[in-house]
Amino acid sequence: MYADVVLPLSLENTYTYKVPSDLEHAVVVGCRVIVHFGKKRYYTAIVINLRDKSPSSTFKAKEIYAALDDKPIIRRPQLRFWQWISDYYLCKLGDVYKAALPSGLKLESETMVMAIEEFVAEEPLRKNEQQVMDVLSGFVKLSVSELEKHTGIKNVVPVLTSLITRGAVEVSEEMKRGFTPKQETFVRLTDAYENEVRLQEAFDSLSRAKKQELMLICFLDLSHALNPALRMEVSKKELVEKSGYTVAVLDGLVKRGILEYYEKEVGRLQRLVCRTESLRELTIAQNNAYAQVLDAFKTKDVCLLYGVTSSGKTEVYMHLINETLKLGRSVLYLLPEIAITTQITERLAKVFGKKLLVYHSKFSDNERVEVWNRLLKENEPMLVLGVRSSLFLPFKDLGLVIVDEEHEPSYKQQDPAPRYHARNAAIVLASMHGAKVVLGSATPSIDSYYNAITGKYGLVELSTRYEDIELPEIIPVDIKELRRKKIMKDTLFSPLLVEKITQALARQEQVILFQNRRGFAPILECALCGWVPRCVNCDVSLTYHKAKNQLSCHYCGYTYHLPQVCPSCKGTNFKMMGFGTEKVEEEIMSLFPAVKTDRLDFDTARTRTAYERIISDFEKGKTQILIGTQMLSKGLDFGNVSVVGILNADSLMGFPDFRSHERAFQLMVQVSGRAGRKTKRGTVILQTSQPDHPIIQMVPLFDYKGMVNLQLAERSMFHYPPYFRLIVIVLRSRNEGALTQLSAVYADKLRSKLGERVLGPITPPITRIQTFHVKKILLKIETTAAIAPVRQILHAVNLEMHTYTYFKQLLVHYDVDPL
Ligand code: ADP
Ligand code: ZN
Ligand code: ZN
Repeated sequence: MYADVVLPLSLENTYTYKVPSDLEHAVVVGCRVIVHFGKKRYYTAIVINLRDKSPSSTFKAKEIYAALDDKPIIRRPQLRFWQWISDYYLCKLGDVYKAALPSGLKLESETMVMAIEEFVAEEPLRKNEQQVMDVLSGFVKLSVSELEKHTGIKNVVPVLTSLITRGAVEVSEEMKRGFTPKQETFVRLTDAYENEVRLQEAFDSLSRAKKQELMLICFLDLSHALNPALRMEVSKKELVEKSGYTVAVLDGLVKRGILEYYEKEVGRLQRLVCRTESLRELTIAQNNAYAQVLDAFKTKDVCLLYGVTSSGKTEVYMHLINETLKLGRSVLYLLPEIAITTQITERLAKVFGKKLLVYHSKFSDNERVEVWNRLLKENEPMLVLGVRSSLFLPFKDLGLVIVDEEHEPSYKQQDPAPRYHARNAAIVLASMHGAKVVLGSATPSIDSYYNAITGKYGLVELSTRYEDIELPEIIPVDIKELRRKKIMKDTLFSPLLVEKITQALARQEQVILFQNRRGFAPILECALCGWVPRCVNCDVSLTYHKAKNQLSCHYCGYTYHLPQVCPSCKGTNFKMMGFGTEKVEEEIMSLFPAVKTDRLDFDTARTRTAYERIISDFEKGKTQILIGTQMLSKGLDFGNVSVVGILNADSLMGFPDFRSHERAFQLMVQVSGRAGRKTKRGTVILQTSQPDHPIIQMVPLFDYKGMVNLQLAERSMFHYPPYFRLIVIVLRSRNEGALTQLSAVYADKLRSKLGERVLGPITPPITRIQTFHVKKILLKIETTAAIAPVRQILHAVNLEMHTYTYFKQLLVHYDVDPL
């Protein structure tokens, strides 16, 4: 028997190995095996196909080294999904595998190694090898990473490989999963004492051991041990904490044979969930929307729910989820990375209790493995709240997928491959399960909206906010004019914005200030000669961060000291151009020194706890003013914000990208949506130097459809999505000459087959990133055209390019449907 396997490498799609006869029962499709590949390295591979015969008579397949699972850990529909991602996004199956599995399941470093007892060295062992053998002799087995720790050898794999070849060590077959379930110690009455009479005797015997007596009482209180209806499990930790006595006291009770310890595996997941509420009743408008979604599902698989901010889309989702679970099918609820907060998690947990699983990239790997295993084991339908990578979880039977904030660009994976769009991939995944999809947004992506108005998707609108709270009043302020008239000098705040903030604070209301740039100033410039510090690795200017007093590159993360003198003219005077959130915060603190402010951006919210702390302080009113980047715009629901300031709309619209106006509109409307309270209409001050710009005119009217019509007209004229499909070939190299030459050759070859559809090579606005020069070739393919032949051409041309010697100095990847 032979097995086709996927390796976690960006090479060919599959490799064939021989299944040794003793493993024939163990090796099934979807399980993990250890194979030898390339320069004597071992990898965890996934079996995706079994066959009787070797694919070729000339090729001699290597044998599978070990099997890791007795049951598949990947289900067949998942493998089909992997294949689709790899075909559509033009990447290797190995890239998909790497993205799909939490590293705890890939376990290269978790591989267990043990010494072979009867080994006799024919040649003396080398120093490293002897070290490993010495360490191993003290253990039954050790994982690769433990070995690295114990021996101090940085990369022990090559040493192990040579030891394996020499027959000194072997890889344990029942390899440990990279994951240890969490064990906890619990306490219970021993069988002997589990009745009133014996317990009374126990108390009598304790009359001179007061602490033990009180601890036993505390245990009985917590556990209701004698009342089966109320009985609760009590952990050792909890008992010690609640009783206030030490472990020694508890040990005393165990010694007397009254209590005993037992170990139990506790899921880390259990702690959050507790079902306390039933579904809320939908309003008439929400109920209409709900019915319309169900109606659309009769003829369509995807439905776009276009509902203004705070219209109660989440409530509608919850009713749909409930119905799906009742049918015995699972639900996947996708949110962009940063939008998964305790807010939404608690809201769902209250209603769905233990059925809720959360899959977040900021969770530890063990927690992610736990979700994975739960889904493999569980027969009950589950609700998974997750970020884009949760598409790869082993769902058994999905009935519904919700993509909330479907317009969010962060649904697209940028680097590394697979560069997939989670919304679009979700639709494909759903169709593989026969599931329905709801896309939800207050500002749908033009792509989705176009699919809805052309009848591919259903379209349901929810245009009133819950409790008929009015949409905020958005007031554009012309800052160019104010600057010209010298009314606004050396300040980021127009008088109107200052006035509104002052009033809000006086009424104990909160304020949000939005500037989509972090740091203090994006450009530092020599006042004398105009020299600007730039990154050595990238072709960009450096951003000044005042708190750390350093310059940093937002493309490679490199940080620099602030120059004392200008290297070009020795001048000592620098001026700042533009501004970021740090500067907004500084000015706010000087304008309102008594007010508590906080900042929410990539610098302050690096970890999940930091992020949630900032959000929760603002929710609880500990902070009055929250300043932030686009992180503010995502799915947050604050009750007391009455004023929102957009400090500089121009910086949102200026990007040389066909989506920049769509994106600017979405950001402004989303941020504005944070304003407004139950009783009162909110106010948004929109500062701009282009008050006549069509986008600035549309935002105050919430004229989404106007924006779409304008954009669609432009896109159809200039051959952009949704009328044309874009594929970008990104070429990067440190060798600029080779890059320039070969990208031109590459584009010409493509042009000879695809004609006018090929544009470029184009030099992007940032010509060098992380020391690599960049060129792009852009393909615009009619959406009506078949894509398979295009893929064949791309593949063939890529192969042809490999005949050029210098081509191997180029890194090439595809970006399909780029954002
Ligand atoms: P959206 O997802 O459209 O932005 P939400 O579902 O978050 O809107 O609703 C906004 C607020 O209104 C939330 O605080 C929510 O609890 C409340 N709300 C919406 N619909 C209802 C309802 N039917 N019953 C009770 N509260 C509701
Ligand atoms: Zn200078
Ligand atoms: Zn850089």
